[in-house]
Amino acid sequence: MSDALATTIEDLVAANRILAEQGVVDGYGHVSARVPGKTDRYLLSRSLAPASVTGEDIMEFDLDSSPVDQRGRQMYLERFIHGEIYRKRPDVQAVVHHHSPSVIPFGIAGVPLQAVYHMSGFVAGGIPVYEIRDKDGPATDMLIRTGPLGRSLADVLGVKPAALMRGHGAVVVAPSVSLVVARCVYLEMNARLQMQAMQIAGPGAKVNYLTPEEGVAAVDSNDFLRAWDLWRKKALGQ
Ligand code: MN
Repeated sequence: MSDALATTIEDLVAANRILAEQGVVDGYGHVSARVPGKTDRYLLSRSLAPASVTGEDIMEFDLDSSPVDQRGRQMYLERFIHGEIYRKRPDVQAVVHHHSPSVIPFGIAGVPLQAVYHMSGFVAGGIPVYEIRDKDGPATDMLIRTGPLGRSLADVLGVKPAALMRGHGAVVVAPSVSLVVARCVYLEMNARLQMQAMQIAGPGAKVNYLTPEEGVAAVDSNDFLRAWDLWRKKALGQ
């Protein structure tokens, strides 16, 4: 195994545990990374609660989300989210799907998520909401179980860093594992803080969010590596 692959697997194990520790995922949700140097392959745990994931659990998939070597292991039903986003977004190196609780209301209430502070500047460019009914009819179980559903979600995501999934959760993407983890943590935090700001401002009152320009500047000024180094050490018991 190459050093780059070993590091990516270790990052992915850390990411699983960090997202669980931070309350972004519970028994459900998953995080993947593209295989270093192989644009058409990605790494994702076998079907397991994220807090329990070790290096042994990481499997390799192609962009159809078929396993390269399944060896009888059970797979996440919604792995198509990952494959179809990697296919559509060459810039994306890591993908998280989660049901992070504070973001759920913004998928159903018709109130857009907006950037409340610099830590979540990536929100300021707008976060689209995916409606599964538009693709799969009025009575689905809400899950992205097939390639075509994954493609329809990737289409709604477009070039954005995240999309909410109505009545379900969200998908978050980034050019690195460290950044996708930070985005998930601060997306959850942003949703919570936005609800608080809207409450204290009162009905109909204007909340003073970051502008898209401020969002871009905030994104450019923070790589979150100080937080990532701390989280990763703790997660791997170092
Ligand atoms: Mn899900």
